[in-house]
Formats: sequence, structure tokens, C-alpha cells
Amino acid sequence: MAQSFKHIEVTCPNCGEIKVIRIPEAIFIQKKFGTIKIQIPINAVCPRHQFIVFVDTKGIIRGYEKIDVQIVSLSHETESEVTRSINLRSLIRIFGVYGIFSLIHAKIFNYPSYILKEDNFEYSEDLLNVIGDNILPETYRGNKTIFLLEESDITKIKVKDKNALIMDTHQHIFQTPWTTKLKFEEEIIKRAIEIIDEEEQLKLLQQDIINFIKEVNYAISILEVVYEIYDIDLIIKVSKALSIKKISNYRLNLIKEFITQNVSRKLASKIKNRVGEFLSVI
Ligand SMILES: [Zn+2]
Repeated sequence: MAQSFKHIEVTCPNCGEIKVIRIPEAIFIQKKFGTIKIQIPINAVCPRHQFIVFVDTKGIIRGYEKIDVQIVSLSHETESEVTRSINLRSLIRIFGVYGIFSLIHAKIFNYPSYILKEDNFEYSEDLLNVIGDNILPETYRGNKTIFLLEESDITKIKVKDKNALIMDTHQHIFQTPWTTKLKFEEEIIKRAIEIIDEEEQLKLLQQDIINFIKEVNYAISILEVVYEIYDIDLIIKVSKALSIKKISNYRLNLIKEFITQNVSRKLASKIKNRVGEFLSVI
């Protein structure tokens, strides 16, 4: 059956370049997910920038999100020269750079990922899970969290899990269960992609994630022995103990999200927000 499309005028949030893009009609027929995120790669709208556009089921644009990492997808000629081995670049080509941020976030923070795959999708579920595991330290490996769905039609999808990432292999993201910005993922991908050696890229990603989990583990050791603790006190303790630059509130929120998702919600809830508490007093 031929796919029908809806045409939507999209504006680059960085420089105002405008172009009409085609979006599959099925995305608007489904009502389950409301607003979805569509990745706009370099050259689709703007020759210089890639970004995310939020589109609701009526086809109305609800917002944009900029992506700071500018990665040009490999052209088909270059692609055929590259071996079929899977690496960071080929993953970005398939899922888009924001799709990779989302998959990495889901992997680190233990959210299941459901991917609607096209018929000729060449990688197996097992392979994707192995790669995902490779960026984690050993103690957090082994959870199968990535699932490929044979159904490529979003209107027929049956995933009921509100706590899951749901996307397809055409750069559409239907559901993200977190409210966190994917700045951490963006930063580590940016660093990794600058390295030419493909194996080194994954190793660097893993190293950045291991450093983050060191902070998590130290935070856990503190939380286990206190009744509760203010966020700012925890920030100071973790930064001092690991002799690192004072960690940001954003970073502490990631630590909290990691503990909630991977260790214990109760433990994470011991972290009290001083600002929030102060506001509730006024
Ligand atoms: Zn632009």
C-alpha cells in the first residue's frame, strides 16, 4: 500500500531557513501519543543545522529543540565503502543523532526501548542490546532493554508501557518517558564523534558513563546512611570526595534519576530540594 503524506512547513530554529517536509499520514492518525518528536537532519530543511520539531496529531508544530552537535550523515557512496560493521556513525545514520541520545539515555537509566523497524532493517535485537551493554560498566549490564517491533505502522502498535521509549527507524520519536534534557548524552557523543578510531569512540563513551556512575555510587553510599539530605549538600559531598569540579544541579538530577531507575526509588527520595522547600514555606 502506498504511504500517504502530510506536508508541513518547518523553520530552522537556529537561522530561520524554511522548507516544506513530508511526514507520513499514519503519525497523525494515531492518537495514542499526542505530540511526537521528528528529527530533522542536516540538509532536510537547513544545510547547516539539525534539530527536533514537535508536531501534534493535527499537524500543528508545537515547538522546536536545537541540537548542538552537527553531524552530517554519510552519503550512500561513502557508506558502501565502509564495512558493514556497526559503529557510532552507522548507528547515528539509522536512528539520527537525537535518536542515539534517546537510546543512550534509555540504556543508562534503564527504560525499555521499543523500536518499530522497517522490513529491511539489518541489525538484530541481540546485537543492539550487546552494543548498549558495552557502554555500561559491568555491574549494570545484562538487562535486555531494547526490543525491535516487527510492526512498522504506528497506528497498530500495542505497547502500553508509559515508562518506555518508543521510536521508529525513520527518525520519529513517539514517546519519551523522561522530562530530562539530553545534554549529558549530547556532550559525550560530541566528544566521542571527534575521535576517528571507531573502537575508541565507544570506549570514550563508556569512560564518560563510568565517571558518571562513580558519582552515582558515591551518592548512594551517602544516602544509605542518612535519613535525608539537601541536594546542595549532596553536591558538595560528592564533588569533594571525588575531587571534581562542583557538579551542576542538572548532573545531580541525573544522579537522582539513575538511582530511581536502577537502584531504589526510596533511596532517591531522600534527596530533598532546598529551593523547592524554601518556596513552599513562603
Ligand atoms: Zn539553520
